[in-house]
Amino acid sequence: MKQELIEKISKCRVCKKNDFSKVLSFGPTPLANAFITREKVNREEYFYPLDVYFCNNCKFLTLGHVVSPVVLFKDYVYVSSTSPIFVNHFKVFADDIHRRFILNKESLIIDIGSNDGILLKPFKVLGSKVLGIEPAQKIAKVAQKDGIETLAEFFNVALSKKIVGKFGKAKVITATNVFAHIDDLDEVINGLDILLEGDGVFIMEAPYLVDFLEKRYFDLVYHEHLSYWSINSLKVLFRRFNMQVFDVKKVPVHGGTIRVFVKKKFGKYRLEKNVEQFLKLEEKWGLDKKQTYLDFADKVLENKVKLLELLRELKSKGKSIAGYGAPAKGNTLLNYFSIGLDFLEYIVDDSPWKQGLYSPGKRIPVVESSEIYKNRVDFLLILAWNFADPIIKKHDKFKESGGKFIVPVPTPKVI
Ligand SMILES: [Zn+2]
Repeated sequence: MKQELIEKISKCRVCKKNDFSKVLSFGPTPLANAFITREKVNREEYFYPLDVYFCNNCKFLTLGHVVSPVVLFKDYVYVSSTSPIFVNHFKVFADDIHRRFILNKESLIIDIGSNDGILLKPFKVLGSKVLGIEPAQKIAKVAQKDGIETLAEFFNVALSKKIVGKFGKAKVITATNVFAHIDDLDEVINGLDILLEGDGVFIMEAPYLVDFLEKRYFDLVYHEHLSYWSINSLKVLFRRFNMQVFDVKKVPVHGGTIRVFVKKKFGKYRLEKNVEQFLKLEEKWGLDKKQTYLDFADKVLENKVKLLELLRELKSKGKSIAGYGAPAKGNTLLNYFSIGLDFLEYIVDDSPWKQGLYSPGKRIPVVESSEIYKNRVDFLLILAWNFADPIIKKHDKFKESGGKFIVPVPTPKVI
């Protein structure tokens, strides 16, 4: 472990108090996106603590340690547009926002953590001005080449001022699947305040804590993913900056995501009724109680025991198994459940960025998906289990020829 690259949290990101209880521990774990090249496969890796804490004061759920974002994001290999499901999701997203907030060619849309421009491309097609902010240099270059102006920097107050000077203020700022990754939210929200027009809207998407508990998707826990958001926590957080959550929608990606609309306190949009409904739902789920998370931890352990039982049984019958999908979450599952080359021959993934690399920790080779036909296995363990249905549909040939799929979470299921 490189000490200087990791820090234990000293105060709550939401309420600024220091009153935490540890509720879930995965032990020392390598970074979920730190796929290893062939040259480095025999070198030692860094392992960092991966523990989840509950804030007894404001009921926020967070990782207990923060790995330096420079380590986490500079060589990031996740590129959104490799997944057609996401391309469509963001196109629909852009259409909705464009219509609802009556954007025109003068409206500036800024996307924080814009990746390869997956959300900004449809906004540009609709005729708005767009600007991406993406600290991963390589990915920012891809976006730039595709005609999406992108700044390869981390978002903060200084950058906001620079943008206002050069491009003006933004009508809409979006942040999809990045808000959970940011440690210094004060810096980011102060930046939003500077950059947003008076009646501008900040729209974020993040995995929803209720789905996390309900579907037991513990593998959402990895070092990039610092915060586990409920509407209540977001409400408490934004209130500290004179901003208000005024609308919430559920969106069916990543196994359960919320889209949250935030405005400045005196912005013109009215508070929608569903905000209150989400808060009631969260109360029903006991999101404000420590015991809820301790019970959750027990269920995850049960999931581990059952899956290992199944895999051991298959191996003892001489069956071969490979992994399907190499998402970050897959590495949490493989490392926490300790599933390595003793169980899996290889992992297939459609992203060319990951093919030819090895999974962090367990060092299982990642290959292209045609491998399942060339180097036949009996079972495919679906690590990208939130896409289980489309994956199974896509590979009916594998099933017809006698292959079977295993969906590992929340409890192992053979299909
Ligand atoms: Zn707190």
